[in-house]
Order: sequence, then structure tokens, then C-alpha cells
Amino acid sequence: MNDIDDLDFLNTLTILYAEDDDHIRGQLAQFLKRRCANVYLATNGKEGIELFEKHRPDIVVTDVLMPITDGLKMGEAIRAINPKVPIIITTAFEEPRYFHRAIDLGVDKYVTKPVDLTILESALLKCARAIRSEMALRDLHERTSELQEAQHIAKLGHWRLDLANGKLSWSDEFLRIFDVEAARFGSSYAAFLSIVHPEDRDFVDRAYQAHLAENTEYDIEHRILLEDGTIKYVHERRKTERDLEGKPITTLGTVQDITDRKLVELELEQHRQHLEELVAVRTGELEKSKNEAESANRAKSIFLANMSHELRTPLNAILGFAQLIERDPQLSEGHRQELQTINRAGRHLLALINDVLEISRIEAGHTLTQNEAFDLCELLESIEEMIRMRAEAKSLTFNVERLGELPHFVEGDAHHLRQVLINLLGNSIKYTDNGTVELKLAANDDSIRFQITDTGIGIASEDFQNIFKAFFQTENGIAKGDGTGLGLAISKEFVRLMGGEITVESAIGQGSTFTFTIPLPEVDSPVIAPKSQGRVISLAEGQPTYRVLVVEDNADNRLLLTRILENVGFEVKAVDDGKQAVEAFQTWLPDFIWMDMRMPVMDGYEATKEIRKMPNGQYIKIAALTASAFVEDRSSILAAGCDDMLTKPLAEDDLFEVMRRLLPLEFRYELPLQSDDVRVVTLDLSCLPFEWREELSHAAELLDIEAVQALIQEIAVDFPDQARVLEKAVGEFHFDHILNALNNV
Ligand code: ADP
Repeated sequence: MNDIDDLDFLNTLTILYAEDDDHIRGQLAQFLKRRCANVYLATNGKEGIELFEKHRPDIVVTDVLMPITDGLKMGEAIRAINPKVPIIITTAFEEPRYFHRAIDLGVDKYVTKPVDLTILESALLKCARAIRSEMALRDLHERTSELQEAQHIAKLGHWRLDLANGKLSWSDEFLRIFDVEAARFGSSYAAFLSIVHPEDRDFVDRAYQAHLAENTEYDIEHRILLEDGTIKYVHERRKTERDLEGKPITTLGTVQDITDRKLVELELEQHRQHLEELVAVRTGELEKSKNEAESANRAKSIFLANMSHELRTPLNAILGFAQLIERDPQLSEGHRQELQTINRAGRHLLALINDVLEISRIEAGHTLTQNEAFDLCELLESIEEMIRMRAEAKSLTFNVERLGELPHFVEGDAHHLRQVLINLLGNSIKYTDNGTVELKLAANDDSIRFQITDTGIGIASEDFQNIFKAFFQTENGIAKGDGTGLGLAISKEFVRLMGGEITVESAIGQGSTFTFTIPLPEVDSPVIAPKSQGRVISLAEGQPTYRVLVVEDNADNRLLLTRILENVGFEVKAVDDGKQAVEAFQTWLPDFIWMDMRMPVMDGYEATKEIRKMPNGQYIKIAALTASAFVEDRSSILAAGCDDMLTKPLAEDDLFEVMRRLLPLEFRYELPLQSDDVRVVTLDLSCLPFEWREELSHAAELLDIEAVQALIQEIAVDFPDQARVLEKAVGEFHFDHILNALNNV
């Protein structure tokens, strides 16, 4: 601190100056005013005391001998108010009695008159310095107590260890945290360690030794155990100062009491553990109910598989034999018609079984999509053709609008898409009496949007959710009398599986619009199986004799399959179970095996696996026959070693198609059957009585199969040719051909 600083500081202070001599007071006042911020002038001690009380000046300069109250009395009164205020005495008398009183008062400087201004200035500077260090001290005190307060609030204490003499010093807060009195606390690191919880002591000490030896960071949390048994949690940090050679000299440590936070954390942890336990228990319960549900589901699946088997197996025999007998040229016309009825009813029954099984499969979570490349244009055309016919039969306009260009070949599930479109368009026709049914298609990137709109009876908004539930039909739906309420439920699920969602917009009397968008990425050159060329009559000429082993436990189906195969020229051997199949494979050496999968003694899976293990077993072609309702069985069947599979009831065409694909053989096909359709269109119905024509036209417009068939039976009596062709048209749902023929009359 130099004089300039002190002068500047003096300049900020105020001074009380008491002097009864006007001349001297005037002279010194001028000097003082130049040196400080303000000067209060008093002519006697009493005035001086009053001014001091009022203005609290920083320094007092006073004469001794003054009227009323002298300078020393005034000084005593002022010191009583502020004992630290510096007092400078100016006097001409150097009498010992004043001198002693001045010493008693503790005056800071004694300046004799006439006042030497340099001496007075240095006295003033000395006082300024004293005031300044007093202020700095006060400031330090304030900051220290603030720091202590802050440490107390933060519960953060600190200590210092002098490593040369092992002496530990600490802050108040440190002692408060450790709950020891300074006098009782041995000031050593060992004393510190003794308060660390015994279980944590080793860990704390090791951390410190590592910090000292390798300068690793010391930042740990541990417990301390107080004398009264209280456990506290502390967060400790340490920093060590080292000499030039890196040798530790002192360590400064901070200790923060984190007990509150730790207890909250522990409580939270307990809650978390409790929650985890709860979750584990609940998950266990859910797991249990899930397992129960799954086993119930499995039971349902097994039941379904059995049902499916039980229903389809006899249906296979019924439909198969009906088809076989129907081909017999000796058959009378009456029997032929009856057989056609069996066929039709059987197919209807099969469609119903399939629908019910489909919905059960969906509910059991067994439905999967099977994506493969297919011809989208062909699929749309075949659906268009079918729907157009039904629309025309009800005098509805059917429009197909393609917005933009559609890909020709796409990858997707053709089977599901076809079923959804037929369901939605079929519903539109079913629930529309006048106007239009429209299918709009729009391709966008790799997706296609399908929109089916009709001008029919519409659906109330409160039924929008319900119509997609299985077996739900609106009153209008029930009134129509046909349908099961399954179509939309199946469609919704199929669309979901294909990656989309069906939405509906409709209002009563305003028609309906069903929309869905599904991914159908375009593919370049799909491998698509050639279309069947018509009904197989026999093996083509010049073919070797192929030996086909039929493995089937059901006697009816065994006989049926044997007949179908023998009829076209195969050499057939039939056995009842898998064990016999394995024997026959070795002794009879077949070229092809039709293998039923479910059989007693040894099932088809095991028999196939056995055969595949035998010499030449890899080369034989094995196709599975299954009445199972589950698509996913396909993978386990193929995994067992089968080359392909067919689902019962068997369609002859498919049966031969599988054999054509797997064996190097060729068939002879019957000529395409369309000739009959041509005949019905060109058929002259003018010979029929007018009333019959009218009734036939009415029934055909309503697509009323039963009424049309009843009429055909009547017609058959006198017009058997016409009846036969009409019957064929009805069997194929060609009501449009019937109506055309009637219109041509
Ligand atoms: P259904 O076999 O009864 O046609 P769906 O599941 O296909 O069963 O349809 C459920 C119900 O939704 C139908 O009973 C019918 O009331 C209503 N519905 C479906 N499509 C239409 C439509 N295009 N117009 C009016 N109502 C419809």
C-alpha cells in the first residue's frame, strides 16, 4: 500500500474538526477540505459531540482547550459512541496532565501548534491506513463467517493434513459432520479414519494410498459411524500438493454430508426393488395366464385340425366320387343332374367350412401371409369378370378405374388379396339395388390403394366398428338372409396381414366406400406356373409306366385316389399306413408317393423321413396329402422331406399338376370346356313357353339358384338339351349367359 493509495483513500473519508480559534480553524479547514471528502467544523467540544452523533465522521481532529467542553472530554464522549474512531489532538500546550489524559484516551496523534501541515497530513494518512486495515479485517471476518455459513448450509466441511508432521486441521463444519468436539478429536489422520465406518475403512484407506502413490483421483462416497451409533453417508474429495519431485506435502480434503440424499436414494432403490418384485410377480402371473391361454389356444388348434380333418376327409370322398361318376358316359341325364347337385352342395359346404376355419385360424393367431410373385393384371381381370357378371345380373353398373399405371407383376399374397376384393365387391353388389359399384385402383411407390364404392343401402356410423367383428350383421345384412357375417372380419385381418388397414365411409342410404392400401412391390420376371390346360384324360402316348404308391388310412379316400390315378394310366399300389409305405418303397420301387400325413401306426412325417434315409430315398418324389387347416403345417411337411403338398378335398387338376411338376411326364387334356358357354349364349330358348322365359329371367336376375334350378327341372321334361346347357350355366354361375340367351329370343 503506498501513499498515493492512502491519499486517495483519505479523499473518501469525512473529518470532524473542532477548534475555538476562528483564524486557525479557517486555515486548517481549508487544508482538510482539500484532503478529504467532507469536513464538519465545531467551535467547541459540545458542538463537536453533536456533529459526531449526527454525521459519524471517520476521523476526529480537535484542539484541547476549548470553551464549554474541551477536546479531550469530547474525545471521551466520541469514543463512548465509537471506540475505534481515530483522534488527532492539536494543541499549543504540552502540559503533562493533558498528555496523560490523551494517552488514557488512546489518541492516535498529538500535533503541536502551530500545526505543521506535513505532520498533520502524515497523521491523517496514518489514521486512513488504520481505518483501511480495520475495514479489510471486518471484510475478512464477514467473508469467513459467510463461508462458514455456506459450508454449514451445504454440509460441506474441509480439512488439511500436513504430511510432514502428520497434523490434521479442520473446519467447524467438518467437526459438526463428524459430531466431535475439537478438544476431543485427535488431530491426526488416524483419528479421521477411526470415525469412518469399519466396513468402509479399508476401502477409504486404499483409495487414499493409491491417490498418494499414483496421483489417482480421490472422489468417493462412504459411511461414517458416530460415537452414538448414527451412520452418516459422506462424499469425499481430496487433492494433494506435491513438491518439485512429486513428493506429497499436504492434502486438502472436503467432506460433504450426503445422508439425506443417500437415504432418499436408498428408499428409492427399495421402492424400485419392491416394484421389480411386483413386476416379476405380475409378469409371472401374466406368463401363467399367457401359458394357459396358449395351451387353450393349442387345444383349439388341435381341435380345429381334427375338425378340419374330420370334415374334409369325407368331403374329399363325396366330391371326388361325384366327379368321377359324373364322367361316366353311361350315366342317365337325371343322375347327372343329381350328381351335379351333390357337387354344388359339397362345394358350398366346403366354402362354408373354409370360412369358419379361416376365422378360427385368425382367432388362434395361425394366419400367415405367403408372399410370392403373381400376375396382378390377370388377378384383377378374373375378379372383374366375375363381379361384372354379378353386377349385370342385378342391372348395376360396374366400373373399374385405374388411376395411373399399375404394375403388371407384383409380389404379395394373391390368395388373400383375391379373397378380400371378392368379399368387398361381393358385398357392394349384395347391398346395392340401383346404381353403381366401382373399383378404383391407384399405385403409389410400392403400394396400391384399392377403393370399393357403391351406391347401396349404406351403413350407420355406429356400426362402423361392429361390421368388422366376426358374425356381426346389421339388420339389413340379416334381412338379406344370406351371409354369415364373417366376410369383413376375414377381410380386415387379411388386409392387416398384408400390411394395410381397411377403412369405411358410409351413411344410411348414401352408399359405402371401403378403402385399403397395401404394399405390392413390382417384380420383373416372375416365375409363374402355367395355367392348367383343361381336364386330364390320360397320360400322353409314349410315356413310360409310372408306379404311384398311395398311402392313405381312410379306405374311401384310398379307393378314390387309386381310381383317379388308374383312370389316367398310372400303375397304383395302395397301403394303409407309413410303416407299410416304407416296406413298399423297398420292395415295390415306386416312382412317386402320395403320402397322407395323419395315419395310425406310423404317420406321414416319420415315413417320409425314414424313406429319405434309405438308399435312393432322396430321389423318390413324395407329395403330401393333408386335411389340416393350417398353412404353417406346410413348412413342417416340407421339412420332413416332402417335395410338395395338397390340401384335401383334392381337386383333380391340382393333383395332376403336382405330378406334372415333379415327374418328367406329359398328359393328354380334354378340349377346353368353353364350347358349352358359347352354346348357352347362342342357345335358342324361343321354344320355351313365354311364362317360363319370364320366370327364368326373373330368377336369373335375382341370382336365385334354387328358383332357376326348379324351373330347369320342369324344362328338362320337354326340353332336355336346353335344360342340360342351362344347368351347366347355373353350375358355373353364368346367369349372364342365361339372361343373354333369353334376351336374344
Ligand atoms: P355378410 O356375410 O353379412 O355380408 P360381412 O362380414 O361381409 O358379412 O358384412 C358384415 C355386415 O356389414 C353385413 O351384414 C352388412 O350389414 C354390412 N355391410 C358390409 N358391406 C356393406 C355394403 N357395401 N353396404 C352396406 N352394408 C354392408
